[in-house]
Amino acid sequence: MVQPLEDLYGRVATDLRVSLTDRCNLRCSYCMPAEGLEWLPDEATLSDDEVVRLVTIGVRMLGVREVRFTGGEPLVRRGLVDIIRRTHDLGGVETSITTNALGLQRTAVALREAGLDRVNVSLDTVRSDTFAQITRRDRFHDVVAGLAAAKGAGLGPVKVNAVLLRGVNDDQAPELLRWCLERGYELRFIEQMPLDAQHAWNRTAMVTAEEIFAALDREFTLTPAVEPRGSDPAELFLVDGGPGTVGVIASVTRPFCGDCDRVRLTADGQVRNCLFARQESDLRTAMRAGASDQELADRWIVAMRGKLAGHGIDDPSFLQPDRPMSAIGG
Ligand code: SAM
Ligand code: SF4
Repeated sequence: MVQPLEDLYGRVATDLRVSLTDRCNLRCSYCMPAEGLEWLPDEATLSDDEVVRLVTIGVRMLGVREVRFTGGEPLVRRGLVDIIRRTHDLGGVETSITTNALGLQRTAVALREAGLDRVNVSLDTVRSDTFAQITRRDRFHDVVAGLAAAKGAGLGPVKVNAVLLRGVNDDQAPELLRWCLERGYELRFIEQMPLDAQHAWNRTAMVTAEEIFAALDREFTLTPAVEPRGSDPAELFLVDGGPGTVGVIASVTRPFCGDCDRVRLTADGQVRNCLFARQESDLRTAMRAGASDQELADRWIVAMRGKLAGHGIDDPSFLQPDRPMSAIGG
């Protein structure tokens, strides 16, 4: 019998985000410092078997229907293809990854053959100099090749996630959208959130959804897409009558916490009921101490009950979580 991951506000989590590593081969300025971070030691990181065991509990016992692997950068995890194959083989579960696409050119076909359904690729600019400025690495063309390989391998619809930064790429929204439309990628802008390792996020400096709409409206006609939004965090629009679309994820200025259906598992086996949660529930220690599947499922259910109604970013008492986005799993 499935025991749903329900919180005290009646929300049921069915979408599991699994961070496979906190490491990354880029250094996006809004995510981590140039020198990187103190990475999790190997022994703290879940093994492939441990990841698959927890995912299996989520899918078989707790009603998880969608599993998205992320990080850090999931493509740097050696066991990724195998983990995806074993997740897909559970049946009845959609699988996806969120990736910076470095190396995707080489692995897209293997990932598709393992049962991966979709990819979200992060790309904030289509100018190679701006790319190098934001990510501190000169790898723009690898991302472009990774995107094309994903589409060619049938990992679609390919979505592109973009963060706009004031004074860096906030004048590039229309050209990024045009580039994505020409290639059949679905672009989504994400408001910058207070999840950077450096704690440099600033509410007054961030580029808001309102500004993004204003910039796009100058060059395109956006009409709300008819399909119901449901738990999708993106507000979706048809561009110039469609079929191309653009999405805006206004996590800060138009929070969608009331419809959240997500739960997160970190690379070191901690359940987080929210990106912004300040508490975690340690499944790794319990698992390594010999807990049964039912005991782990029970801990997970309890962890979900503590989910807050909203992230409260605009509340004066808001405190950024101790771990950055790259360690939580974006
Ligand atoms: N490395 C992979 C990637 O970049 O797609 C997966 C992990 S990354 C943390 C996941 C997503 O979080 C990316 O789309 C990235 O742009 C986004 N992200 C990172 N830091 C962010 C922040 N402070 N605010 C909003 N989005 C952020
Ligand atoms: Fe790496 Fe993704 Fe963070 Fe960029 S956003 S540094 S690609 S984890």
